[in-house]
Amino acid sequence: MMDMFSSTAAAARCPGALYRDVLASCAPVSGVWEEAEVPTETLGVFRARDQDHAIHAFRLSRDVRSAPEPIRIGLFAGLHGDEPAGCAALLRLLVELSRDPLAVDGYELTVCPVCNPVGVKVGTRENASGKDLNREFWRSSTEPEVMILEKELRLRQFHGLITLHADDTSEGCYGYAHGRTLNEALLLPALHAADQVIPRNHGPVIDGFRAERGVIRDCFTGVLSAPPEQAPRPFDLIFETPALAPIELQVDAAVAALHTILDEYRRLVSHAEFF
Ligand SMILES: [Zn+2]
Repeated sequence: MMDMFSSTAAAARCPGALYRDVLASCAPVSGVWEEAEVPTETLGVFRARDQDHAIHAFRLSRDVRSAPEPIRIGLFAGLHGDEPAGCAALLRLLVELSRDPLAVDGYELTVCPVCNPVGVKVGTRENASGKDLNREFWRSSTEPEVMILEKELRLRQFHGLITLHADDTSEGCYGYAHGRTLNEALLLPALHAADQVIPRNHGPVIDGFRAERGVIRDCFTGVLSAPPEQAPRPFDLIFETPALAPIELQVDAAVAALHTILDEYRRLVSHAEFF
């Protein structure tokens, strides 16, 4: 069992091939990705369908000596393998932030663009054993992807979590705020920024939940989230793009939302409005 999580030389090699596939349909990013130099770490390796698969994290931070500790944010995509826009959006964000260090000021970002590598490779929502990973968190799941990510969530004790998804039943962007004021304070400006690319879903019911201004307060259980014992709770957002929209637009909308959340949270922390 322990072998499952050890890094192997083969899997620790640059995850370029998988990401090139992800980005094949996203031309604006693929050209520049090769040039971006972002430190990569293998969070864990597991075996499925007679192959080794790895979950990679990219770390981006800017050392600000005056700050006691950086704000640790975890960004996740590709939990559902048939939603490539989120994976591409995180890669685009990495490229943009690696060129603009000031945008990372005060932050330590952990970026996991492909949380379900088998699903992404074959284009299925589920992982190799047919599980929807986003219903498995903090339920003693034995799915290797969930165990690897839970370990990282426990280790890092993130101050904020952002997960990207895409919904083929929605014509606009929307998000889950889990009923918390801080989350809504971040999600609303993010949706406003994304509106410039893909207008949000203004419907009263989205994905079976009551919604207002594109914000859902309730959520499914078992979604990627902070460890149950973590206190205080981090901010925790799920941002959804409409899966049937052109992937380039979904990427643009999600990246605009992510930049806005990072800027807005830094502003909130500096004004200590919520602390
Ligand atoms: Zn999804």
